[in-house]
Amino acid sequence: MPQVEPRVELLAHTPDALSIIYAAFRQCYHAGFVGDLWEKLVSGEVAREKQAEFVEKLLESGHVSPIEHVTFTFAVSGVSRALTHQLVRHRVASYSQQSQRYVDGSDFNYIVPPAIMTNQAAKRLFEKCMLDLRRTYRELKYILEENGRAEKAAEDARFVLPQAAETRVVLSMNCRSLLNFFEQRCCNRAQWEIRRVAFSCLKLCREVLPAIFASAGARCEKLGYCPEGEKFTCGRYPLPRSIA
Ligand SMILES: Cc1cc2nc3c(=O)[nH]c(=O)nc-3n(C[C@H](O)[C@H](O)[C@H](O)COP(=O)(O)OP(=O)(O)OC[C@H]3O[C@@H](n4cnc5c(N)ncnc54)[C@H](O)[C@@H]3O)c2cc1C
Repeated sequence: MPQVEPRVELLAHTPDALSIIYAAFRQCYHAGFVGDLWEKLVSGEVAREKQAEFVEKLLESGHVSPIEHVTFTFAVSGVSRALTHQLVRHRVASYSQQSQRYVDGSDFNYIVPPAIMTNQAAKRLFEKCMLDLRRTYRELKYILEENGRAEKAAEDARFVLPQAAETRVVLSMNCRSLLNFFEQRCCNRAQWEIRRVAFSCLKLCREVLPAIFASAGARCEKLGYCPEGEKFTCGRYPLPRSIA
């Protein structure tokens, strides 16, 4: 089956995440040295509920740099190049993406948008196009190999691969960057595929660190109104001028 679905796996996150954030916040307002407090934080002698409460309160005040000390790393597959083109616009992050130069694309998988999937005529056309592109890729690669491009053939043949082609990526973001990512990409205005990935990441982050992520999501969730303006609002929350 060349058509694939998204998978998001949490590979790792900074250990003792809550205590690190608590320690970073505490150091800003505490005359002592948090290095001396560390054992009490990780052992739970300073209750985790207390740490969480402190962190939540300070985060609300807009003091956000302490949450940059904690990073999450995800592996994502079953997503399109159209998705990763949007994803990598989030610059405060690290990415390692499957290469189309080194990985053969002869049997590329692809992602089908739901609106195409549920329309027989559109789906037929889409799948025919994917099969044609596969064939073209193989033929091009063969011609290039026969003409001396050898292992470099894939590097040129990939120019015919579509935005729908599946890719895989490992990405790391710190909590501050993740909050910004969720604000933008959990919004109904965001494109469906990146929204899906953002919600999967958010679910995993919430399980690990609810103090930071329980209330994360599109900006409207926190604001109680829609900041996207009249033209773009999805109508889920009122516009600011209609609240007054
Ligand atoms: C609905 C939607 C539609 C979009 N449409 C388009 C589009 O049509 N075309 C397009 O090109 N992009 C588009 N984007 C991408 C968007 O413009 C951002 O590039 C992307 O969402 C990354 O956001 P960011 O810069 O906040 O994140 P990051 O790059 O991770 O940056 C995080 C934060 O760091 C700060 N920062 C980072 N770099 C700089 C800098 N150079 N100068 C100052 N501050 C900086 C900013 O505060 C920024 O919010 C769209 C995004 C969304 C959500």
